[in-house]
Amino acid sequence: MIQMQDVWKTYPNGVMAINGMTIHIDSGEFVYIVGSSGAGKSSFIKMLYREEKPTRGEIFIDDKKLADYKERHIPYLRRNMGVVFQDFKLLPGLTVFENIAFALEVIEEKKDEIKRRVMQVLDIVRLKNKARFYPHELSGGEQQRVAIARAIVNNPSVLIADEPTGNLDPDTSWEIMHILEEINDRGTTVLMATHNREIVNSMRKRVIAIEGGRIARDEVRGTYNNES
Ligand code: ADP
Ligand code: ADP
Repeated sequence: MIQMQDVWKTYPNGVMAINGMTIHIDSGEFVYIVGSSGAGKSSFIKMLYREEKPTRGEIFIDDKKLADYKERHIPYLRRNMGVVFQDFKLLPGLTVFENIAFALEVIEEKKDEIKRRVMQVLDIVRLKNKARFYPHELSGGEQQRVAIARAIVNNPSVLIADEPTGNLDPDTSWEIMHILEEINDRGTTVLMATHNREIVNSMRKRVIAIEGGRIARDEVRGTYNNES
């Protein structure tokens, strides 16, 4: 469950990125975040995983107030929230296995358990056969699948994807979408910021459109644009 109550964000340089947002997203929902460049999508997403703090207003994740997390407890919050980016952000010196295991090693999980869980998520993204590969040996779509595996290895309740298909061709983008849909079917809430009109208009889900840092539109089975 994600809740924002009258959230505002002004950056130190005076840019007002988010101007009074109130939303409620139930657990298990799949939500597209759309809007033109500079609309405030990234600011919205960054506040959810506490990369940025609101200037005003409250955000709740699973009934816990984000502002109440002390700095040293942020890793616990992040464990419950996987994030996937347009540029994958894999560590180039580590294998696929190690890139995913990393998220579990930092919480001092046992070796056998790490191996079991890494292979389990590699199975979900259909990359078990590439566990020993390095990121540069993989296609863009495969790298994004590794990033998704890494994001879900801690079993987060929420998966946030910021333009996950932005660097991928149409066929590969669809592969990624089917994986995100599968993850959502397993009960994970998925929030995806996107410019991909075709995907939004074919996989009809809730659409929250942001313009000028405000919610311009919120539709249960929405489309990319108003008119489409
Ligand atoms: P989107 O993701 O929809 O493109 P952003 O949230 O990145 O929108 O940006 C919203 C507005 O906030 C833009 O005017 C952008 O220039 C500004 N902005 C984003 N990040 C920062 C920052 N760190 N400092 C100052 N202004 C920022
Ligand atoms: P299988 O049971 O099919 O042999 P494994 O679970 O042993 O598969 O491993 C699958 C892949 O992951 C193999 O390529 C294996 O070498 C690799 N792998 C397993 N553990 C590690 C590790 N700690 N570091 C890097 N790669 C590993």
